[in-house]
Amino acid sequence: MGGIGSGRARKNGLPSEFYRLDVRWLERHGFLVSGRTRGLQLRRDGGGRAQLWTRFQSNCVTVDFDLGQDLFGRRRSRFELRVRWSKCHYGGRRPWLVCPRGACGRGVAILYGKEDFLCRRCRGVSYPLQRVPARSRDLARAQMCRIRLGGTGDMTERFPERPKGMHEWTYTRLACRALAAEIRASNTLLAQLKTAKRATSDAKTKEGTRATDIAGPGAISLSI
Ligand SMILES: [Zn+2]
Repeated sequence: MGGIGSGRARKNGLPSEFYRLDVRWLERHGFLVSGRTRGLQLRRDGGGRAQLWTRFQSNCVTVDFDLGQDLFGRRRSRFELRVRWSKCHYGGRRPWLVCPRGACGRGVAILYGKEDFLCRRCRGVSYPLQRVPARSRDLARAQMCRIRLGGTGDMTERFPERPKGMHEWTYTRLACRALAAEIRASNTLLAQLKTAKRATSDAKTKEGTRATDIAGPGAISLSI
């Protein structure tokens, strides 16, 4: 097994293939209290469970990761993750997990792992949206926002109202994101239509020229 930051990250894995270590969740559940050791079970959306224990001390989380039983016995892994803090706009502070890959060192909310944990970029995790062709991505983004707001992906339907229980600020943020994506998608579609129209018009002009070329000699032969 490679240590932290060693080996090549596999590119384009889906988030469901990895365990997620979310520092906001850890803080909310009292894992980031100095000197405290706690255990938690991680689950992957794609199936699989893993047990780990964390100990927080001096802005460092020591993780003991139980990877389960295989032919060679119980597989365990121990590594350390650094925690960085930033000030919040309205007071207080929030934690970030530092990506342990040496060349990276980004502060992120979530690290992804199977045996060790890295940030999304170093791990090569791509969300389904990144698998959509670039020209259709804005439309897909707008549809995802609508679905998250309780609507459907049908762009001919009315924009969804604020779902019950959703904070007004969250709704405004998602709605703005959706509308901006819809405008960009419309502009892309308009540009595609213009290109298609120009191509059709060029093809017609070429056809007309060819027809004249064919008709030309015929007319001459008739005049003879
Ligand atoms: Zn990284």
